[in-house]
Amino acid sequence: MKAMLLRQIAPIDSGPLEWVDLPIPEPGPGEVRLRVRCCAICRTDLHVIEGDLPRQKLPIIPGHQIVGTIDKLGPLGIDTGPPRLAASGTEAKPGLVLGQRVGVAWLRHTCGQCGFCVTGQENLCESARFTGYHADGGYAEYAVARADFVYPLPAAFTDVEAAPLLCAGIIGYRALRRCQLRPGGRLAIYGFGSSAHVVIQIARHRGCEVYVVTRGEMHREFARQMGAIWAGEDAHDMPVKVDSAIIFAPAGELVLPALESLNKGGTLSLAGIYMTPIPQMDYERHLFYERDVHSVTCNTREDGRDLLAEAAAIPIRPHATAYSVADANRALQDLKHDRISGTGVLVI
Ligand SMILES: [Zn+2]
Ligand SMILES: [Zn+2]
Repeated sequence: MKAMLLRQIAPIDSGPLEWVDLPIPEPGPGEVRLRVRCCAICRTDLHVIEGDLPRQKLPIIPGHQIVGTIDKLGPLGIDTGPPRLAASGTEAKPGLVLGQRVGVAWLRHTCGQCGFCVTGQENLCESARFTGYHADGGYAEYAVARADFVYPLPAAFTDVEAAPLLCAGIIGYRALRRCQLRPGGRLAIYGFGSSAHVVIQIARHRGCEVYVVTRGEMHREFARQMGAIWAGEDAHDMPVKVDSAIIFAPAGELVLPALESLNKGGTLSLAGIYMTPIPQMDYERHLFYERDVHSVTCNTREDGRDLLAEAAAIPIRPHATAYSVADANRALQDLKHDRISGTGVLVI
C-alpha cells in the first residue's frame, strides 16, 4: 500500500514525510482493517513529527482522524474485551460489519482494568495507546484498529466532514464538558482552529454567546461567520466577563488573561496536549473567587459517541480543506503556519 511515513523527528518545513510502499497491514485478534477514505490532520500530528511529544514508534505513519470502510476482520479476539466475531466471520461486534463506514480516533487502546478504566476515566488509563503515535495511523491506504475502539459514523456527514470530528470534534467536545458551560452562558475561545469551529457550533446551538481570540484576520472572520459575537486578536481586549473559557492555542501566556476574563466561579479548560510554559500567576488576580482550571487529557469513547450523536442531531457542518495524502507535508505546513480555515483533510 501507499503511505506517508515518518522515519525521523524533524521540522515539518523540511518535508519529513515520505511517500512509500509498505505491506498492507493484517488485523490482529479483535481488530478490524479499514480501507482508508480520508484522514484529517491535527496539531498533535505536528507535535509527533516535530518531537514536542516524547518519541514513541519510529518509523510511524501519522494520522488519527481516520474515515474508512471495514475491509477485513481479524481472528477471534483473545483479550480485547467485548468484540467477538460471529461464526460467519462477517460480524466483529453487533452493528459492525464488512463494508461498514467507521472512524478511528486518537485513543486506540486502554487496559480496561486499571483504576481509571473501571471508574469511567479511560482517557487517563495508565496503559493507553494512541493512533499515529504508538501504532500506525491513517496517512495510508489501509489502517488497523481495535474493533471496540472504532466509531460507526452518522450518515449525516460526508467522509471529509466526518474526519475532523474524530479528534478536533471529540477533544473540543470534552473541552466543552470540562469548562462546564451552562446553556445560555458566555464562552470565550482562544485559538480558532478545527476544534474551535466545531465547539462554536455546539455552543451556539445551546444558546450560548461566544467570544473568540485568535491570530490572523482570516481566522477572526471565520469565527464571526460561525456566529462569534466578538472576535479579536489580543486576549486583553476581551470585552466582557465570561462564564467559561477554552484555550485551544498551545500558548501558555494566554492562561493569565483568560483567567482574568472569567466571572467568579468560572472555569477555564486547557484543551491542548502540549502548551508552552505558563507565566507566574497572582492568586487574587487570576485564581481567587473559585475560578478553576481544568486540563483536558484525551477522551473517553463515551465522549466520542456523544459528540457524534449531538453533531449529527444539530447538525454540525465541519469546514474542511481537502489535500491529496501525498501532499501531507504541505498540508501540515499550512496547519503550522495558520493557513487553513477549519480542518485540513487528506483524501486517499
Ligand atoms: Zn486502564
Ligand atoms: Zn488530534
